Amino acid sequence: MNIHEYQAKAVLKEFGLPVSRGVAIFKPEEAAAAADELGGPVWVVKSQIHAGGRGKGTFKGAPAGAKGGVRVTKSKDEVVQFASEMLGATLVTVQTGEAGKQVNRLYIEEGASIAAEFYLSMLVDRETGRVAFVVSTEGGMDIEQVAHDTPEKIVTFSVDPATGIMPHHGRAVAKALGLSGPQAKEAGALTEKLYAAFTAKDMSMLEINPLVLTGDGGLKCLDAKISFDSNALYRHPDIVALRDETEEDAKEIEASKYDLAYIALDGTIGCMVNGAGLAMATLDIIKLYGEEPANFLDVGGGASEEKVTAAFKIITADPQVKGILVNIFGGIMKCDVIARGVIAAVKAVGLEVPLVVRLEGTNVEEGKEIIRNSGLNVIPADDLDDAAQKIVAAVKKG
Ligand code: GDP
Ligand code: MN
Repeated sequence: MNIHEYQAKAVLKEFGLPVSRGVAIFKPEEAAAAADELGGPVWVVKSQIHAGGRGKGTFKGAPAGAKGGVRVTKSKDEVVQFASEMLGATLVTVQTGEAGKQVNRLYIEEGASIAAEFYLSMLVDRETGRVAFVVSTEGGMDIEQVAHDTPEKIVTFSVDPATGIMPHHGRAVAKALGLSGPQAKEAGALTEKLYAAFTAKDMSMLEINPLVLTGDGGLKCLDAKISFDSNALYRHPDIVALRDETEEDAKEIEASKYDLAYIALDGTIGCMVNGAGLAMATLDIIKLYGEEPANFLDVGGGASEEKVTAAFKIITADPQVKGILVNIFGGIMKCDVIARGVIAAVKAVGLEVPLVVRLEGTNVEEGKEIIRNSGLNVIPADDLDDAAQKIVAAVKKG
């Protein structure tokens, strides 16, 4: 689960990390009071969307010259003006895709003077199974670009969970950023607090880009992006309360209500599969035959007919879907339950795209018969390879 920048900064503040004072607003009318409360003389008006690259982003349909989703100003009138321009507008950044994202919240911050911009992130490194730090002097930039062009400017290390964070970790961060003396000490304290926040809140990713050296020589987290481990959210009701469903994929929210493992993807072939491994193999084979999957979906082991119906409805509701592949290898999952679920869904919402069904395993004959007798225009398939070729051909023809 992701949260907004202003929420992330509030979490960091709880752990004593240095962030600017700020006020979140939802309506343009709130901008003047927010600016007064902060006092100036410099303000930053920041669009709050779950995507980065806001500073260099552009607003859809905005007049020429209307600049990015993060704007710095010394004028209170401009705070108000920027707020009315940004709220409700659609911001397009390198991370949003062409469709962009509507800005429904702003964060008005006290402006900081910047002497240097650094990059710092933390993540759970699957290779080592540890929390890793990624640090670079090249802040405020696209870190993927830095990694590509000048990988020597990125320093990474991981923390042994048996010892936890140690003073040498802080020294490694300071060294990577070229800091010495009291600033190195500050980097050490920052490193410890970040690790405490990361582990206490079960984060999966924390990115501060930029971490800045301010004009008066202190460190400050000027931007913050946090993702939390969804499997640990049950023990963080305070974090769950920060959820902004308007930032999430509506299909994924619907799927989570039925406890379906569903991830929306960009392609055209909707997939309903049982078992994560088979689901991944299905995505691979669709790509092998030249098309792209519209989703990952594992309906799980003992799914009920109701759950299968819900899953099928979510797939058909996606306007990107030009064909559907149902690929079931019934072990615990029974083929007749799948067949009934699919038919119930089609009865409820109709079916306007080709459907290929491959059933194998428990109650397979019963399942096939239910589909045959349904009068549905289903393309039957014998195995995974056959099924993938058939759905790709049907989508290409359509
Ligand atoms: P992003 O573009 O979505 O990553 O948004 P950021 O929060 O990182 O802001 C983009 C850029 O705006 C930063 O890299 C800074 O250069 C600039 N910026 C943000 N806050 C301040 C501030 O308080 N003072 C100044 N001078 N610049 C800021
Ligand atoms: Mn940033």
